[in-house]
Amino acid sequence: MEVIMLGTSSAVPTARRGLSSVALIREGESFLFDCGEGTQMRLIKAEFPRRKFHHIFITHLHGDHIFGLGGLISTLNLGEREYPLHIHGPIGIERFVRFILGFPRPTRMGFEVIYDELDPRFDGTVLETDEYRVLAKPLVHTLPALGYRFEEHDLPGRFDATRADALGVPFGPERGALQRGNSITLADGRVIHPDALVGPSRPGRAFVYCTDTAYCDNAIALAHNADVLVHEATYGDDLAEMARDRRHSTIREAATVAVRAGAKRLIATHFSTRYDGPLMEQLRTEGESVFPGMIMAKDLLRITIPPVP
Ligand SMILES: [Zn+2]
Ligand SMILES: [Zn+2]
Repeated sequence: MEVIMLGTSSAVPTARRGLSSVALIREGESFLFDCGEGTQMRLIKAEFPRRKFHHIFITHLHGDHIFGLGGLISTLNLGEREYPLHIHGPIGIERFVRFILGFPRPTRMGFEVIYDELDPRFDGTVLETDEYRVLAKPLVHTLPALGYRFEEHDLPGRFDATRADALGVPFGPERGALQRGNSITLADGRVIHPDALVGPSRPGRAFVYCTDTAYCDNAIALAHNADVLVHEATYGDDLAEMARDRRHSTIREAATVAVRAGAKRLIATHFSTRYDGPLMEQLRTEGESVFPGMIMAKDLLRITIPPVP
């Protein structure tokens, strides 16, 4: 699983930082979280695989998180795409996209855009397949905003083949039955229970995306034991009051969320443009004082989440 930071600036882009968007790639399937202006250029640079790209998750309707949708969808439409694109996001996202695609007259679409509008209080599962699910919870911002958690289902425990050999479990359906959690009876009458040979189930990997938001409990709940938490860190301690007024987080708060949630890695992003050069180092110091080893996002930064051992 790989996380690619596409845009890492808040509100306005800079020469080095584009507007909010993160790509997640898993088993060849790719997902987009937010789509600020300039996202499609970053996707090209990142060599984003479009072959199995079906879902975009939008956090909220501020322009710096959605103004890239028109260009991206138009480009997809000029290509060969025939399969649908699902856009999940707060109520209003459908009206916004339909407006762009309908101006000045309706775009002839080669594929279907399927809208999944979520109530601002939505708290539950947005998408579920055999292998993973995506959960959302409301965050705290000046517009209704949702945080997302992409999590793989738990994997079965490891099968102890050496022990199975020692117990004389034959190769074949018996081992499969044990791995599925069923007891088996051997030819000599001995009953073997799965817990003798199969370890505890292993939690799948989790990626969490929380922006824009003030410090809040839902972010901590979403990020519980996450492999990677991407959390906004718009301001430093110097502008903590502004962070509160504008319902954003300081980097210290982002790091506190990660610590409380037990997240393994934190990527701080959505930096105010005033933090450039030495001031960015100041931000890092504040974040690191709470969550040592945290990562300051850069556009096109790639972070791999290794397979579950
Ligand atoms: Zn924003
Ligand atoms: Zn916002």
